[in-house]
Amino acid sequence: MFAATILTLYPDMFPGPLGQSLSGRALSEGKWSLETRQIRDHASDRHRSVDDTPAGGGAGMVLRADILAAAIDAATRPDDDRPRLLMSPRGRPLTQARVRELAAGPGALIVCGRFEGVDQRVIEARALEEVSIGDYILSGGEIAAITLLDAVVRLLPGVMGNQESGETESFETGLLEHPHYTRPADFEGRGIPEVLTSGNHRKIADWRLAEAMALTQARRPDLWDAYLAAHPPKPPRPPRRKRQDPPAST
Ligand code: SAH
Repeated sequence: MFAATILTLYPDMFPGPLGQSLSGRALSEGKWSLETRQIRDHASDRHRSVDDTPAGGGAGMVLRADILAAAIDAATRPDDDRPRLLMSPRGRPLTQARVRELAAGPGALIVCGRFEGVDQRVIEARALEEVSIGDYILSGGEIAAITLLDAVVRLLPGVMGNQESGETESFETGLLEHPHYTRPADFEGRGIPEVLTSGNHRKIADWRLAEAMALTQARRPDLWDAYLAAHPPKPPRPPRRKRQDPPAST
């Protein structure tokens, strides 16, 4: 079973949204587990402080390596082969491909940073994989961790009712998803594209693919280039040659 352990200064932020809807139901059904651990429990001084001023000066405070390492070690089970992630804007941007890998694995130990960040030495000493959820700065890693887990949990076996919707969705095919429509047939004078009501499944599939391609090309040239590289246009078939008798040997 996918087992998540969160190291945080704000354990009350969990399960938060993960306790609702799909992920919440799956959590109460035991399809995944969530453990939160208070980093501050590993502070050693009277004030239970976990951070200190940055070496070299500058703004803000830095999470101490020794305290975070103690928290990580205490959270690590014997034979723990779960990846250890640090939510961090400097990390590799999270992708659906990485989400799938994580969902196929045993779980994750996730460190939520705060303040200016964490001491570099604990990142190295505990081999933390830095993961970013996008090019913007949050005030802490908790919401980033919730985002990552939300994406992972919906892929776990038995969590999402309609398994197919996981496979045609944006990014899974390398394309953004086609537009959706439902009742009513007329909304403020806008109809539903005729092909969708035609009942012709071949045509519907073609239309959806064309829409997905056009949307991706217009909105995400980066994804479009990657898609083209992965799906090179098929070269035209050479005209079939008539079988010929071998040339007579002279
Ligand atoms: N000074 C840091 C930002 C610190 S923000 C810098 O400029 O890189 C405080 C914490 O919030 C980080 O340690 C990280 O855990 C979390 N965080 C902020 N933005 C994030 C993002 N885009 N993705 C993942 N985690 C993020």
